[in-house]
Amino acid sequence: MTLSIKTLELPPIGTNCYLLTKEGSDEIAVVDAPLGAWKEVKAALEGLNVRIAHLLMTHGHWDHTLDGWLFNEDRRYITYGGDGDAEFYRDPESMSRFSIPGLEMKPMRIDRWVKQGDRLTLLGETVEVREVPGHSPGSVLFWFKESDCVFSGDALFQRSIGRTDFPGCSFEELERSIQQQIYSLPRKVKVYPGHGPRTAVGEEIENNPFVRAAK
Ligand SMILES: [Zn+2]
Repeated sequence: MTLSIKTLELPPIGTNCYLLTKEGSDEIAVVDAPLGAWKEVKAALEGLNVRIAHLLMTHGHWDHTLDGWLFNEDRRYITYGGDGDAEFYRDPESMSRFSIPGLEMKPMRIDRWVKQGDRLTLLGETVEVREVPGHSPGSVLFWFKESDCVFSGDALFQRSIGRTDFPGCSFEELERSIQQQIYSLPRKVKVYPGHGPRTAVGEEIENNPFVRAAK
């Protein structure tokens, strides 16, 4: 069964939230929780018989976590994230210097800290976790192996890469993460980033102007 992926581009800065379902599975997975995600996901779930729900957090930056606390309140949801960003999840106000003034930023709870090489079984398929620090210390990606797609957060975008001018960022580290953890995936794997349109591993190896494949 193929994974069905719905993309929600949400305010205030156009952050992608992905809603994943699979025919025959009573599970749903959501990738990231930008502002408005909870309402949109709830509306999309109406009439679906979902028993188990997962919220996969690619990283702890505020524009990906604003609705996280709402998912925490629904007991079906298990949240996953990288512990390098634990401080951001626990104390989002620590990011107020680089967010938009006036936003209410509530802490969110991560139920399961994930790390390099973890294998999760979600919607009946194997999902490999890889650590991709550089844009944030606790950035992780989720690779749905049977469906050939990866949720890369803000590490890699179509023809671009994540910013590295925030606290805890490093271009060298991000470059290494992309080369070692993303460019090593099969070239056909579709990349669903935290902002902007979908791309593919092979396309970025060929065309990304910021990070070239390691020689
Ligand atoms: Zn970010």
